[in-house]
Amino acid sequence: MTRLPDPTTRPRGLVDQFGRVARDLRVSVTDRCNLRCTYCMPADGLPWLPKDEMLTDEELLRLIGIFVRDGITQVRLTGGEPLLRRSLVDLVSGIAALDPRPRIAMTTNGVGLERVATRLAAAGLDRVNVSLDTIDAETFTILTRRNRLDDVEAGLRAAAEAGLTPVKVNAVAMRGVNDEAVSDVLAWCLERGYELRFIEQMPLDAQHAWDRDDMISADEIRERLSERWTLTPLPTADRGSAPAERFLIDGGPATVGIIASVSAPFCAACDRTRLTADGQVRNCLFSQTETDLRGPLRDGASDDELLGLVRGEMWRKKPGHGIDDPDFVQPDRPMSAIGG
Ligand code: SAM
Ligand code: SF4
Repeated sequence: MTRLPDPTTRPRGLVDQFGRVARDLRVSVTDRCNLRCTYCMPADGLPWLPKDEMLTDEELLRLIGIFVRDGITQVRLTGGEPLLRRSLVDLVSGIAALDPRPRIAMTTNGVGLERVATRLAAAGLDRVNVSLDTIDAETFTILTRRNRLDDVEAGLRAAAEAGLTPVKVNAVAMRGVNDEAVSDVLAWCLERGYELRFIEQMPLDAQHAWDRDDMISADEIRERLSERWTLTPLPTADRGSAPAERFLIDGGPATVGIIASVSAPFCAACDRTRLTADGQVRNCLFSQTETDLRGPLRDGASDDELLGLVRGEMWRKKPGHGIDDPDFVQPDRPMSAIGG
């Protein structure tokens, strides 16, 4: 294991051996979910974390505080489905009260967002990404195994009304399920002023059923969209560490993003790190290892000791996810238990 010098004597920042610096912390606030998207979870769900293994709000806030004092500027709440955490509004208020205050974002399936969007915005939530892969009710039910499209649409409207703008929509395309209708999703988002981003399906499903040959690639999505609109790539310099390649639609100002996580990985510019609902730091979605913070935290570790553990985990971050390597092994934790 790589040993690091005393964290108090190292310069500030969550750096790795390749010079990348983490700025974006994804916090999974629960591993539970009320949908069962086929590319993420099995139909029967998963063995959920027992309550005593989950971080309390107080523990989460203490750990997030350690991250933000070491250079994290954006905290994204995710899961599982973050809206299932009862204390979510209080958690957002707690994060907004940290010094320095990070930007606060959330990735959600949108079910239940309607009733809480205003309170989340008032508590300090800055932005929201709602996952929506299809606007066809039947396909939605096949894909998520739940008949909740109306709830998601209501959640999106509520997010816009609450000022959580620009409202972003994330979509995963699956062959033979919703790939033929990617243009319909974009047209629907354009009409409503939502910013759509397509994401290539990654090998992070609990069932380990991902098959590269079946994946709808970024190029394929672009080709399909180009049948209906003229897509002009925005300069890559405007992209920074953002994973989406963005295109102006018919000259703009509307844009669409396409995230080629598998076919054109952006690992060299990655600025992310992750904290799971049970208190493990993961330096990459595809990491085979993680560092436990919950145990040391509950055993009385100081902030500096916890920071040392976080920095050690970040230092060990690999240069890339290696999905194309012949010896690639999918991580044990599925996306829903890591925090997407
Ligand atoms: N439940 C929330 C939601 O669906 O937005 C938050 C958690 S979910 C794991 C976060 C994001 O990961 C969603 O946009 C979802 O579409 C995406 N996702 C899940 N499994 C994926 C996979 N195998 N490949 C690519 N994206 C995936
Ligand atoms: Fe739930 Fe999100 Fe996974 Fe779908 S992608 S099953 S909404 S955690």
